[in-house]
Amino acid sequence: MENVEKAALVTGASRGIGRAIAIKLAREGYVVAVNYAGSQAAAEEVKAAIEAEGGRAIVIQGDVSKAEDVDRVFGEIKKEFGRLDVLVNNAGITRDSLMLRLKEENWDAVIDTDLKSGFLTMKAAAPLMMKQRKGAIINIASVVGIMGNVGQINYSAAKAGVIGMTKTAARELAARGVRVNAVAPGFIATSMTDVIPEKIKEGMIHSIPLGRMGQAEDVANAVCFLASDEASYITGQVLKVDGGMVM
Ligand code: NAP
Repeated sequence: MENVEKAALVTGASRGIGRAIAIKLAREGYVVAVNYAGSQAAAEEVKAAIEAEGGRAIVIQGDVSKAEDVDRVFGEIKKEFGRLDVLVNNAGITRDSLMLRLKEENWDAVIDTDLKSGFLTMKAAAPLMMKQRKGAIINIASVVGIMGNVGQINYSAAKAGVIGMTKTAARELAARGVRVNAVAPGFIATSMTDVIPEKIKEGMIHSIPLGRMGQAEDVANAVCFLASDEASYITGQVLKVDGGMVM
């Protein structure tokens, strides 16, 4: 690809929050790599939506919980863009169950996809960003990583880990001009929360001071702020986007 001045990679960008982040970054002039694991048609649709608005995007398949896939994804980033300015670690899954019933394989799947993936991608992105002496990494955590949640011991552990990992990476990379922050969404309307029964959803909305579920765009706005030069003095922070749920 020619004339790439600003490049971004969004993991898990085929739908939901990642899709909204990819579209918003493209509107702000980034050439965007739309990563997905299995949903190829949805990822191609995100690319088409970006191009329909005059933006530029590529689609890169890769399971970011696997080191060999992350190596391949970054090989393509280097070949296509030759640089990376923004990395958004958004890919995530849930495998909910009460602790006493949680299977080890569902602990491992969530830790690998929601936590280890960020370590793998940051390790691959950091050398590119350090060479540029500039870069922004935004890791998508969750308020559940701060407050815990019944039935989500694997997910809350992964998201708390994302917060710790963000702060360490922020300290290690600051001297090279690379900022690392986390965004902790609350209760956002996506396919991840579609499966929650209506009655439980109503109860959750009741506990949100702003009185509504968030939209993927609410999270994308916060991510794009942290990616921008307007946030150039902000690193190692966790920005909650939760309608006031946790304060
Ligand atoms: P979603 O609608 O289920 O989308 C998840 C995305 O991640 C999909 O694009 C999926 O692509 C991708 N993905 C899953 N496993 C992957 C892997 N191993 N490698 C690459 N991509 C992978 O979820 P969402 O609600 O938008 O959530 C996005 C992020 O926000 C997650 O980290 C989630 O934990 C966090 N979050 C969400 C909420 C909420 O209320 N929705 C609240 C707090 C935090 P494929 O289909 O191709 O696998």
